[in-house]
This record gives sequence, C-alpha cells and structure tokens, in this order.
Amino acid sequence: MPHIYAHRNTVPKTMRALAKTAAAPGLKLIEALVPAPGPGEVLIRVKRTALSAAAASIDRWDAWAQRTVRPPVIVGHEFVGLVASVGPGVTDLHLGDCVIGEPCVACGTCRHCLAGHHHLCASAHRLGQDRDGAFADYVCLPQGSVWHADPRLPLDILACFVPLGQAVRIARRFDLLGAQVLITGTNAQGCMAATIAKYAGARNVVVADSQPAGLALAASLGVARIVDTRDASLDTLRRELGISDGFDLGVDTTGRSTALGDLLTHLRHSGQLALLGAPFDDACLHLQPLLTKQLSVYGLDARDNVPDWERLTQALQSGLDVSHVISRCLPIAAFREAFDRAAAGEPGKLILDWES
Ligand SMILES: [Zn+2]
Repeated sequence: MPHIYAHRNTVPKTMRALAKTAAAPGLKLIEALVPAPGPGEVLIRVKRTALSAAAASIDRWDAWAQRTVRPPVIVGHEFVGLVASVGPGVTDLHLGDCVIGEPCVACGTCRHCLAGHHHLCASAHRLGQDRDGAFADYVCLPQGSVWHADPRLPLDILACFVPLGQAVRIARRFDLLGAQVLITGTNAQGCMAATIAKYAGARNVVVADSQPAGLALAASLGVARIVDTRDASLDTLRRELGISDGFDLGVDTTGRSTALGDLLTHLRHSGQLALLGAPFDDACLHLQPLLTKQLSVYGLDARDNVPDWERLTQALQSGLDVSHVISRCLPIAAFREAFDRAAAGEPGKLILDWES
C-alpha cells in the first residue's frame, strides 16, 4: 500500500506530549518521539482530548496516582483523532478516518482474552497509566482498540465518549423506564449520567452534592432534581416526590464514603447500586444495609465500550443533547490553566485542543 508509506513521510519525527515525568505533582509538555505503528497498529493524529478524573489525579499525584502510575508516561485516555498511518496487516482503518480509542488495551493471551472476553482481561494496559496515553499529537494503538467514530458529531463530544459510554452502560444494564434514580456527584460524570438516565426514561433523577458550582451546572441541565446536601435532606425531597420506599437505582460518581452512605440509606429494598467513581482511600461501603436491604452492587469500569459507543452514537443522532456538560475548550498550551480550573472545582468537562 504505497500511499500509506507516502503519508507516513508527512508525519513528523517528534511531537508535543503531556507527560508525568517524575513521581511528584504536576505535568510537563514535552517533546517526544512519534511512535511508529508496528504490525496491526494504528497511528492516530489526536484532535481533541478531554480532561478526566484520572488525569487530574495523576496531575495532583494523589495516593491513587502514586499507587497506579509509574513515570515517565504520557497521560490521558479520552480523545478523538484521525488515522495518520497504519502498520502492516491493518485492513479496516484508513488514512483520515475519524476514530476514538478504548481506554484499556487487552493482553490478547490470558484466559479471558482467549475466550473473547477482552473487557475482563486482568493484564490489560491502561492508556495514560501503564502505557503511553493520548494527551499528545499522536497516539499508537492496536487496531482492535480503535473504533470508527461518526465524523458528523462534534469533536468535543467525541472526545468524551469514554465517560459518556459509561453513562450509556447504566442505561443499557439497568431497567430505567419509570425508575427512581439517585446520583451522587455533580462532576461531569454525574451530569452525564443524569442526562442519559432521564433520556432513557427514568421517572425522577435526583442529583446530590455539596459543591455549589457543580450543583448549578446540574440544575442548568434541566433533567434532574438537585439536592444540596449542605442544607437540604434527601428525606425531604423523597417526601416531595412521593418516593416512599426509596430509589430503584443509585449511581455513585464520587468514590466518597458520605455519598455511598447516602445511597445505601435511600435505596429501596432489593435496589441496585452502580459504582463509577474511583474510590478515595477512606471510602467504605457498610455491609449491614447491603445485607438487610438485599442490595446489588455493580462496579462499572470503562471497558468493553463498543456496544455503548454504538448506542451513544445512535442516541446523539436521535436528539440526545450532552453539549451543556462541556464547560470549555482550551488550547493544549494552556493545559496548566485547564488542570488548575478542574482542581479548583470548575464544573463540567474541560476539552484540550491539539490542533491549536
Ligand atoms: Zn488478557
């Protein structure tokens, strides 16, 4: 395929990349070598990236990041880009295709991978954590981890397909039609989950948090009842909404004990609890209400995304609007401002533009 190698010649030898270079707080915009795609691999020119909670943790160098990440590594896993070149043996991806990538690359050889259950791979490498991520001008992935995106959708939305896909997973996995749903956390993931739960037919979606800016964003979406846990109680709102026996589904996006406690208190008997937020070190889930209420708990990692991304695309093409969850788009040169804004509690999803 001579045209591919001709195009490869237009790919520069070096690129900008946002990296964790040392075991300390902060990130650096470095010059790195552009990876060369090997057999079955795809080189992607990154257009937009979205700032995730994991990237923010790695920047802060919190306890989770210290346990999880071994510098040096290029960070980030939420992105959209165009195919820039392909290695030998790649058949379904072509130059210029609009693509997104899965956040985990399965090993391909463990018992789960050999059984076709790549989302259960225990040896998977996570982009931006234990293999170089997508906060760079180029990222290289195996073709099986690359997914054709609809180029008619806005790039800022496509860059958020990983967290949006998790919200779609909730809609696909749980019976939301007419359901009472309680979501803890007004971060971007909580706002996405609220929007998609309402779109999927939930009767009432309640979002609880104590962060004023996040509560204001969640209220502006117009899909959920908002509870400021600093000065209002979920009991009061439940009475107002007539939810006498508790919520059918709880979704935690915070990983914090207080939020988990609220969920256990206000779920109905035989209710379901979905965990999306990475747990803080002191997070705990009390066993007594799990037992006495006979609750079911589900951990929803950002894996096995393709079915969720297909449904998400169809929903976006059919009127689902998540654009209000995106707060702003900044050029990559302003990455420090973006991470500082996120650390200061600016609500919504921050996008970094790699074309600028
Ligand atoms: Zn595996």
